[in-house]
Amino acid sequence: MKPGIRINTGILFFLFIYPFSCLLAQENYPRNYFRSPIDTVLKLAGNFGEIRPNHFHAGMDIRTGNHEGMKVYAVADGYVSRIKISGIGYGKVLYITHPNGFVSVYAHLSKFNDTIGKYIRKAQYSKESFEVELFPKPNELPVKKSDLIALSGNTGNTAGPHLHFEIRDEKTEFIINPLFFGFDIKDDVKPKITAAYIYPVDEKSRVNNQNSFKQLPFSGKSGEYKTLPTDIVTVSGNIGCGIEVWDTESNSSNHNAVFSIELLMDGKRIYYSEMDKFSFDQSRGVNSHIDYVEKKIHGRSIQKSFVAKNNKLNIYKELKNRGIMSFMNDSIHNMTYVIKDYFGNTSTLKFKLKGSSTSYDKNTPAASKYTAIFHCEEPNQFKTQNCSMSLPANILYEDLRFQYSVSNDSVKKGSIAPIFHIHNDLVPVHSYYTLALKPNNPLPERLQKKALIVSVSPGGGKHSEGGEWKDGFITTQTRIFGNFTIALDTVPPYIKPKNISKGKDLSKQRTIEIIAGDNLSGLKSYPAYIDDKWVLMEYEPKKNLLYYTFDSSIKKGKHTFLIEVKDERGNASTFKANFTR
Ligand SMILES: [Zn+2]
Repeated sequence: MKPGIRINTGILFFLFIYPFSCLLAQENYPRNYFRSPIDTVLKLAGNFGEIRPNHFHAGMDIRTGNHEGMKVYAVADGYVSRIKISGIGYGKVLYITHPNGFVSVYAHLSKFNDTIGKYIRKAQYSKESFEVELFPKPNELPVKKSDLIALSGNTGNTAGPHLHFEIRDEKTEFIINPLFFGFDIKDDVKPKITAAYIYPVDEKSRVNNQNSFKQLPFSGKSGEYKTLPTDIVTVSGNIGCGIEVWDTESNSSNHNAVFSIELLMDGKRIYYSEMDKFSFDQSRGVNSHIDYVEKKIHGRSIQKSFVAKNNKLNIYKELKNRGIMSFMNDSIHNMTYVIKDYFGNTSTLKFKLKGSSTSYDKNTPAASKYTAIFHCEEPNQFKTQNCSMSLPANILYEDLRFQYSVSNDSVKKGSIAPIFHIHNDLVPVHSYYTLALKPNNPLPERLQKKALIVSVSPGGGKHSEGGEWKDGFITTQTRIFGNFTIALDTVPPYIKPKNISKGKDLSKQRTIEIIAGDNLSGLKSYPAYIDDKWVLMEYEPKKNLLYYTFDSSIKKGKHTFLIEVKDERGNASTFKANFTR
């Protein structure tokens, strides 16, 4: 069998199943059940389905006036069913389950109301951990519609203060476009089409006689875009299209996601996608939805209108031959992109494709060099003396001509193995696979715990991929391809007291603040004690900040503060100081 070009039996499935799934979309959601989670006008800094690194954005990012502390309300009756406190991801986040089968999510919060706050604090003190994930029972933290539940914040992965708000289906855990629920957002602005591209889908296909993608020149305004009559692109073989679009609401300037993308050829639908809902399992499929190479190299978000055979996203509502068009004859075809936002504001792009029977390459092209063939629907194993990979089935979007090499000359300072080139970072991987690498020399026992696999960025930067020593290899789980090596982390984390020093009078201070961080493997734990009793240090990784907030349990007088900061490889630093209060 020729590598990379296998007949796809999935096409029939797509053809029959997809046209029906789009009929249900809007009608099923209650439109006036939920109030707004805030009191002021809803302005979106981000919306559902935006293309973000390795995921689609799952909710609305609601503006909070560039500051923290905006009041956040329960959008309907229900109960707090999940709470997570973390320095990363959603930061401080609340989930409320409602009796109508939906869950509302409020993320990046700064504070909770007294009842919820006490509940969390009790759990943190009993687990002696800042990071907690709690699942209160229905009778523990009930809420009424419009109860003040929290204050907005900037915790977790954020670029600034805002409220991230989501709605999920309780049973399926699908995340649903919140606009279906009738939140009051004004939008009379048509989507902007900023670029379009024509792709050869396989090696035999040609775009303007070349086997490379081509940007389509076009112009237009007021939502109507078209190419010049002279700008006809000649195509042959299997061809796909891609488009760069964004949308915004009235009185907003953010580049948000559009709702639907439709591609028509001679009036017939080739591709139709809708941002109605998706599951967390699918969300990483964004890397297959976009032109991942262009994203990695030039930072552009081109949404392809042809779908990889192992792309399981359910946003594709109607596909003809996975969106791949075949041009074998001399013919002219009228193409139209129809782009809509949720409110139905519509933009179109019209262009022509000229089919050519002559430019198609009938010869089988010489295959590029590769080490092994990975079939995406099957599990794949790869082994050399010093490297072992085990990929579960369906974590690749397409069959892959896998390339592997090792370079000894590029060993960076501090690494104890060569650089393993595990294909390259331009091919996305959907989920974790096992990667095991062997160091140059067997490691003495005291260093086995200090070794970890690191991915090496093109600029030489190292990022911890973790891993454990087993049978002479370091073994980890990762979901990227690229360059890897093994490094040792023997350096303890750094600690810099920010507002405490030996013997200091802290009676006028609300907090004890410590700057801490790690050079490689990352912080794992940071227990702190006042007078030998564990106290809660909150962690803000964006500022490398650990902080304790004084409460009434610390009485006037002399006290001792002690903190021990440990990294993932067990290296520890401590800081101790007496203070008065
Ligand atoms: Zn968000």
